[in-house]
Amino acid sequence: MKVTEYFARANGKTLISFEVLPPLKGGSMQTIFKTLDPLMEFKPPFIDVTYHREEFVYKKRTSGYYEKIAIRKRPGTVGICAAIMHRYGVDAVPHLICGGFSKEDTENALIDLNFLNINNVLALRGDAAKFEDKFIPHVEGHHYALDLVKHLTDMNQGKYLDTNISNGATTDFCIGIAGYPEKHFEAPSLLADFAHTKAKVAAGANYIVTQMFFNNQKYFDYVDLCRKEGVTVPVVPGLKPITKRYQLNSIPRLFFIDLPDDLVRGIQNAKTDEAVKEVGVEWCIAQSKELKAKGVPCLHYYTMGDADTIKRIVEAVY
Ligand code: FAD
Repeated sequence: MKVTEYFARANGKTLISFEVLPPLKGGSMQTIFKTLDPLMEFKPPFIDVTYHREEFVYKKRTSGYYEKIAIRKRPGTVGICAAIMHRYGVDAVPHLICGGFSKEDTENALIDLNFLNINNVLALRGDAAKFEDKFIPHVEGHHYALDLVKHLTDMNQGKYLDTNISNGATTDFCIGIAGYPEKHFEAPSLLADFAHTKAKVAAGANYIVTQMFFNNQKYFDYVDLCRKEGVTVPVVPGLKPITKRYQLNSIPRLFFIDLPDDLVRGIQNAKTDEAVKEVGVEWCIAQSKELKAKGVPCLHYYTMGDADTIKRIVEAVY
C-alpha cells in the first residue's frame, strides 16, 4: 500500500515509522532484523531503508601508480526492502539517490522495485562524494531530486527513457521527498530552498519527510510555510535522539541544524554517559509527545541501529 494511503486511512491518528541503514558490506541481514524485531510491536505501516552512494579509494598498483576505485560500503537497499516486506508483511520504502547513477541505472532499479511490488520511494539527490567539495552528478545522471521525481512521474504514466517503448506498463509509485525546516545547507535562504521543494511537489511528489530537528517550532513553522505556499501534502517529522556527548558538535556539522540552548545545557551539565543519554532521550520523548498532540501524520524515527533507545521513546509516547 502507498505511504499516503496509510496516512489517509489513519484518520488523524499519528502513525510511527522507522528508518534503517543497510549493514556495512560483509554484515548480515540479521543486523537489520535485530534492530527491527523489537520495534515491530508498535506496528509501523512502513519502514524506510537508506541508500548509500559509492565512495572512492585510491589503491597502489605494482606499477607504482594509484588507481581510483569506487566501492559501495552499504549496498543492498532493494534486497533489504524485499526481505523486510517478506518477514514482517509491512511496506518498505527504499531511498533512491541521483548521485553515482545514470538515468538508465535509476530506471532499471525502478523496474526491479516495481516487479517486487515495492511502490513507495523516497526520491533524493544524495550528497557530494567524499573528497568532492560539491555534488557532481553522474555524466548521464540526474542533477537534482526534482529530476528523479519527474522520472518517477513519467514511469507512472508509462513513459520510459527508451523512446521505442510506446504504451509502456504504468508503474504506481508513491513519491516521498526530503524537506528541510532549517533549510538545505547549500541553499542561500529557506525560501530559496523551499521553492525547489515546492517544484518537487508540483512535479508529483506525494509527501515530505523532514530532516531531523530538535526544536518543534521549526517544524511547525515549516508546515505553516508549506500551507501558505499551497503545498498541501503530508509533512512527516524526522526524529533522532541525541545519545552521545560528541553529537553536540557532530549533528550541527553533519546535518546543518541548530540545537536548542536548553538541550545543549542539559547535555553539557550531564556528568556521565548515561546521564547524557537520559537527557537526549527525554528530549526526544517530549518532542514526540508534542508532535503527536498536534496530530502530525507520522513520527519517523532514524534508528541508527539502536533499537533499545527508540523502543524506550516510542513506549513513552504511545
Ligand atoms: P535536492 O532537492 O536536489 O536539493 C539539493 C540542493 O539543491 C538544495 O540546496 C536545493 O535548494 C537546491 N536545488 C534543488 N533544485 C534546484 C534547482 N533546480 N536549481 C538550483 N538549485 C536547486 N542521502 C543519502 O545519500 N541517502 C539517503 O538514504 C538519504 N536519506 C535522506 C532522508 C531524509 C528524510 C533527508 C532529509 C535526507 C536524506 N539524505 C540521504 C540526504 C540528502 O541526500 C541530502 O540532504 C542532499 O544533499 C540533498 O538531497 P535532496 O533530495 O534534498 O536534494
